[in-house]
Amino acid sequence: MLSLLIATTNLHKLDEYRLILGDLPLHLLSLRDVGISDDVPETGTTFVENARIKAEAYCRMSGLPTMADDSGIEVPSLGGAPGVYTARWAMPDPNDPHRHYRRLLDELQGKPFHDRIARFVCAIALARPGHEIELVEGTLMGVIEEQPRGMHGFGYDPVFYLLDYDKTLAELPPEEKNRISHRAQAARAARVVIERWLAEG
Ligand code: IMP
Repeated sequence: MLSLLIATTNLHKLDEYRLILGDLPLHLLSLRDVGISDDVPETGTTFVENARIKAEAYCRMSGLPTMADDSGIEVPSLGGAPGVYTARWAMPDPNDPHRHYRRLLDELQGKPFHDRIARFVCAIALARPGHEIELVEGTLMGVIEEQPRGMHGFGYDPVFYLLDYDKTLAELPPEEKNRISHRAQAARAARVVIERWLAEG
């Protein structure tokens, strides 16, 4: 059976990927399963570059087919920020429930609806020893709310408003978020690549 390393330490992401790939004849492994604790720095300037850097590095370290991702939020009126710096925009106080999105709300304060348009992006890179790397992406459009709403999800979910649902991502049941999210869309595209690998044997 093909082993696939999912190169993330984020348990939430692991669960989401297990859900979408779990029925394939694959042996899914985490970094912990293969005993890798090295952190590969995200030195790229795009999501795709960061995903590629991580997939190549962890594939080299493990010798296994490897999938790695990078994700975040882009706001065109802010020149695409926070982009690859999304995680670094979080405030340091771990007790602040609004720490992930406080800076974004501040930057957009008083701005009209069209300046609040945003998208979540998830890039996934798939690396196999001796093969060209393969890249896929998923996106989700939304609007940044002025106030957080909802209890589900993580990170920016409470301020990410979806027009189609008239709800924030944090107000959606987790199953529904996992169906439509940028990560779910990228994972479904990754699944197509992995199915081809399986067919190639
Ligand atoms: P990374 O892919 O782990 O580097 O994630 C970057 C940052 O993007 C995370 O720390 C979150 O703040 C944000 N982010 C990525 N995906 C989501 C999501 O599905 N909901 C909310 N925030 C997200």
